[in-house]
Amino acid sequence: MRALQLKSFQSDPELVDLPEPEPGPGEVVIKVGGAGACHSDLHVMREFAAGMAPWGPPFVLGHEAAGWVHKTGGTIRGLEQGQPVAVYGLLGCGRCKPCQQGAENLCVHGLEGPPGIGFGVDGAMAEYLLITDPRRLVPIGDLDPADVAPLTDAGLTPYRVIKKVQPKLTPGSHAVVIGAGGLGHLAVQILTALTPATVIAVDTRDEALALAQDVGAAATVQAGKDDTAQELKDATNGAGADVVLDFVGSAPTIALGAAVAKPGMDLVVVGAAAGQFDWNFYALPYEVSLTTSFWGTLPELHEVIALAQQDKIKAHIQRFPLEQALHAYELMEQGQLDGRAVMVP
Ligand code: NAD
Ligand code: ZN
Ligand code: ZN
Repeated sequence: MRALQLKSFQSDPELVDLPEPEPGPGEVVIKVGGAGACHSDLHVMREFAAGMAPWGPPFVLGHEAAGWVHKTGGTIRGLEQGQPVAVYGLLGCGRCKPCQQGAENLCVHGLEGPPGIGFGVDGAMAEYLLITDPRRLVPIGDLDPADVAPLTDAGLTPYRVIKKVQPKLTPGSHAVVIGAGGLGHLAVQILTALTPATVIAVDTRDEALALAQDVGAAATVQAGKDDTAQELKDATNGAGADVVLDFVGSAPTIALGAAVAKPGMDLVVVGAAAGQFDWNFYALPYEVSLTTSFWGTLPELHEVIALAQQDKIKAHIQRFPLEQALHAYELMEQGQLDGRAVMVP
């Protein structure tokens, strides 16, 4: 089968021919119907080096996946060939309490091995994908797997954050989304679906701001200008934000979030640009919490799929054949993608 394999860090992935995976007892092989390209793949391809993590190449990229059950290792209750499913991409130890509660993103052994498929373990940018445990599969009914693939991360990650900050987003509140790309354009939709907050999107690119507005942002602010912070504050009627979700995570974006904070705000850094912020008791207004959020839980993935089935969220996708995956990553790197690129093998 064709697959997009990363052979070493700091190199481009290559389209290779690999043997089609065979399911062992209790395992499932999925025929991939869509695999999303995440900016995290770019961080891994470009910024990681051997020894930085307890996992590494070679592996097939792709941690956002949906498709159809192709083969099972024996009979698996409730699974039939051809059934459409989304894949929960996280790989925890499976035995700690968070894992057994479906929160493999909080696995106590999480940093000791690959965090998910497509990170040191073969992922979804291939014709077929091996799933070692059927509990990682969520039925998607009549949704299109290509539309669903981004929901397993670009949807799930903001969904989890928004559930956590939801109590702050009462009527009259303001939520700021910094970085309206793959995750950000879904964050705008989830905020709109779940909260009465006024949603303000911030991005450096006009196209991303236009998409954010199309999917529900009440206001947009261009990033990177001298008066960006003032403009953003004005967009909150001068009050400051109740919640800032930073889907970039660079020093300037964290600083921008901090600049529009009001007391008690939540500033959640989701983007993995690893920007620094100089924190002390007086660095932020009182009781501002500055925190991170990582991917999501299996129950949360069920809820995200349900939101999509209710037509409340939909990933804006650009489809590419697997052969053009590298091109899709280059477009992402150059800021020329809107929403999510999805490889359809
Ligand atoms: P993306 O490339 O699709 O979107 C990023 C957006 O941010 C783009 O629209 C870009 O124009 C915009 N942007 C870049 N610099 C900016 C700036 N200075 N100010 C405002 N906007 C700016 O990326 P994505 O796939 O949505 O991922 C976003 C980030 O989230 C990445 O760092 C990725 O690694 C990370 N991520 C984290 C998790 C997690 O669990 N915490 C999960 C998935 C992705
Ligand atoms: Zn991702
Ligand atoms: Zn665990």
